[in-house]
Amino acid sequence: MIGFTKSPNKIIMIVFFGLISFILLTYIDTKTNYYEPEENVLISENLSERLPNINNKIIHKVNEGENLSVIFEDKKVPLNTAYKIFNYDKDNVLSGIQPNDLMEFNYLGDKLQSIEIIKDEVNSILISTSKEISVKKIKKDIQKIKYIRKGVIDESFYKDALKVGIPDSIIMDFAYIFSWDVDFIFDIRKGDTFSIIFEIEYSDGAKISNGDIIFAQFVNKNKTYVAQRFYDDDQGKQYFNESGDNVKKAFLRAPLDFAYISSHFNPNRMHPILHRIKAHNGVDYAAKRNTPVKASGDGTISFVGRKSGYGRTVEIKHGGNIKTLYAHLENFKPKLKVGDKVSQGEVIAFVGDSGQATGTHLHFEFWQGLIRSDPVKVKLPSAKAINSSQLNEFNNLLTLSYKSLNEYNLFLNE
Ligand SMILES: [Zn+2]
Repeated sequence: MIGFTKSPNKIIMIVFFGLISFILLTYIDTKTNYYEPEENVLISENLSERLPNINNKIIHKVNEGENLSVIFEDKKVPLNTAYKIFNYDKDNVLSGIQPNDLMEFNYLGDKLQSIEIIKDEVNSILISTSKEISVKKIKKDIQKIKYIRKGVIDESFYKDALKVGIPDSIIMDFAYIFSWDVDFIFDIRKGDTFSIIFEIEYSDGAKISNGDIIFAQFVNKNKTYVAQRFYDDDQGKQYFNESGDNVKKAFLRAPLDFAYISSHFNPNRMHPILHRIKAHNGVDYAAKRNTPVKASGDGTISFVGRKSGYGRTVEIKHGGNIKTLYAHLENFKPKLKVGDKVSQGEVIAFVGDSGQATGTHLHFEFWQGLIRSDPVKVKLPSAKAINSSQLNEFNNLLTLSYKSLNEYNLFLNE
C-alpha cells in the first residue's frame, strides 16, 4: 500500500511538470509548421531518473573483423541467450553486421532486455531477449516536414538565407536551381527577395537530413524566377517554371568547374603563337591539367581524336543542329568513341595542352549549323519542358505552393 502514501512534495512536482508539459505542447501546437528547423523539439521523459533500474545501456561500435559471437562474449551475453539468438535467426538477418554499426545493449537491472543493431538513422535490427527471443528488422518511419522561409538580400544571399533559418545544403540547392539564369555572386542586389518551401526529414523526432526544395522563388533586379519541383514521367525529378519550362538549360555554359576564362570569343584576335589576326571562335578556360571536361549538353559523340592545331579534340552533336567542340585535351574518357550517347554534365575528357596551345586550357566552341557563336553570350535553349499530359497535375502543385506561401505571409503578419 506504499503507492497511496504520496508526500505533498511529490504532488507539487507532478502538478509542476504537468503544467510545463501543457505549456510546451500548446507552444508546439501553434508553431507546427514554422518552428526553427535546427531545433529538434524532443518530447521525451528521462525515464532513467525515475526508474534507475532500466538505466543500463552499453553502446558498442562494431570493429573491423569482429563478429557477433566475439561481441556477445565480450559484453557478457549469457551463453544460452546467445545460442537462442543464433538459433532464432533462421533468415540470417544478423549476418549483415558490419564495421561501424552501433550496438545498444539494454539492461533492466542486470538482466539483458534487448540488443539493437543500428545500421543507420532509419534501419536497425532489434533482438529482444526479455521473455521470448525475437529478431526483427526495423525501419523507422520518415516524416517529411515542410518549412517555409523568406527573406530579403542585405549582405549576400548565403548570409541572408542563413539568417532566416534555411539550412546550408538547401541554400546551395536553391542557388544551383537558379544558376542557369542568375549568378549568385555577381547578379545579386540589395533588396532582392527569396521565398522557399523545403522539406526536412525526421525520424522519431530527430532530424535525419535536409530534404529537398519543393518550391523556390527569387526576385532579382525586379525579375521573378520561379521553380516548382515535379516528378516528370519521362525525366524524373525536375524543376519547372510557371509555364512548365525546365529551369535548366539544355547546355552548360562552361563545360568544366574550377576554371576561369583566359581568352574570350573574338573574331579579330591577334593569335598568340602565329602573331597575326586570327579569329578566336571559342572561349578558353584556363584550368589545371586533368581537370574533368563535361559534356555541355545531351548528345552523341561525333568526333574523338587529334585535329591538327586543336590537339586532342572531342565533338558532340546535339539536337537542334548544335555541335560543341572541346580542344587541347590531355586525354579522353577511357573507351570514349564516336556514336556514344552522353548526358549533360557527364565527363568526356580532361584538360591539357595538346596541339597549338600556349598553356594548359580548354578551348570550347559552340556551333549552330555552320556558324560558331560565343558560348558565353549565346542564348541557350531550355532543357526539355514538362510532359504535356502532366501539366494539370503540375499546375495544381504550383497553386498549392502559392497557397502555402500566402498562409505563411499571413502567419508572419499576425
Ligand atoms: Zn581557344
